[in-house]
Amino acid sequence: MQYQPGPMQAAAEVAVPADLAGQAPAPGLTWYDQIRALLIRTGLPAEPAVYDVLWRYVRDDDHELSLAIDKAIANQSLTISVLMALRETHLGQMSEAQVKLLIAEAHDQAEALGLRIESGQSDLANYGRAIAVGGEQLAGPMDAASLAALLEQLGAATASIQAANSRLLEELDQAASESRALADRLTQAERAAVTDALTGVMNRRGIMAAIEKAQAEAVAAGVPLALAVVDIDHFKRFNDRFGHAMGDDVLCFVARHLADRLERDGGMVGRLGGEEFVGVMPGVGVQAAAGRIDRVRADLAGQVLRSAVDGSSMGRISFSAGVAEHRAGQPADQLIGRADGALYTAKRLGRDRVVPDRG
Ligand code: GH3
Ligand code: MG
Ligand code: MG
Repeated sequence: MQYQPGPMQAAAEVAVPADLAGQAPAPGLTWYDQIRALLIRTGLPAEPAVYDVLWRYVRDDDHELSLAIDKAIANQSLTISVLMALRETHLGQMSEAQVKLLIAEAHDQAEALGLRIESGQSDLANYGRAIAVGGEQLAGPMDAASLAALLEQLGAATASIQAANSRLLEELDQAASESRALADRLTQAERAAVTDALTGVMNRRGIMAAIEKAQAEAVAAGVPLALAVVDIDHFKRFNDRFGHAMGDDVLCFVARHLADRLERDGGMVGRLGGEEFVGVMPGVGVQAAAGRIDRVRADLAGQVLRSAVDGSSMGRISFSAGVAEHRAGQPADQLIGRADGALYTAKRLGRDRVVPDRG
């Protein structure tokens, strides 16, 4: 965010090992060397998930992710849990492999259902043939014994089609419940992909999509839409004093506090990353939104946080926020950028305050 020192270029500090200096390795190998150097420098385990994030980092595939990793490296806080949280915030939880697996399962189910229906059709065709043959025989002269034999044959064909039918019904029932289970898993995976695992509010991906949708709805309805970027004040100090785990609890608390208050009025909350949140307020202009966020700020700053373990005081926590109003045609990231500019001013003016964008 703007009040942070500029990010170092992705992996700019990572030295190429001496034995490779002077050569011009293939780009993939350069990345590999950078990842290796990062693993050594940070002490992160060389696991596939870690490698996956660092691979995106050295290639700067997702710039926001790169910035967040730069920040964590600079703070010397790039632990495995921080890296995995960043991965989830920026890339969502559902990997490509998981999506492929679900698609393959759905495909198998559709194929199995097709086979069941085909076998049902061939059972029906056999029955149709048995009846047709019976009909032809009935048309000609027939003695009592052959009539009895024919009726027995037709009875057997009917019994077999009934059995096939009930088998088909059972299998269709089973296919339907398998499909429902698969659809449920897809819904869960979709939800996980847009939810921040730590705080339960939307992650960056989710809130960006929600902002775009809210922008389109506000324009269509001819109503204003305002957005606040919220950043906890001196959060690093809190972490340093009470530990990262307690810091995580505070993130959850602040997320819940924001969501409780904004959702009441049809608003939405997401975590942009780290200790930064965004509040979306449909139907209100910048001044009203700034007033609303300021009340949320005052409510939070007025509370003394206490440890759930021993009830000891952890002091108060405050946030600063910048608020901006949507302008027709302006993309979500620019709206966030304007709110972020106002947040920068709020930090500069001394924190624990809300500043509306005046642009
Ligand atoms: P400012 O008032 O200027 O915003 O100061 P700050 O200390 O809040 O900002 P800074 O960017 O210096 O530090 C942010 C801190 O947030 C550092 C980082 O370790 C911490 N942080 C980021 N993500 C998490 C997380 O998921 N859990 C915890 N506990 N801390 C986190
Ligand atoms: Mg911050
Ligand atoms: Mg902060």
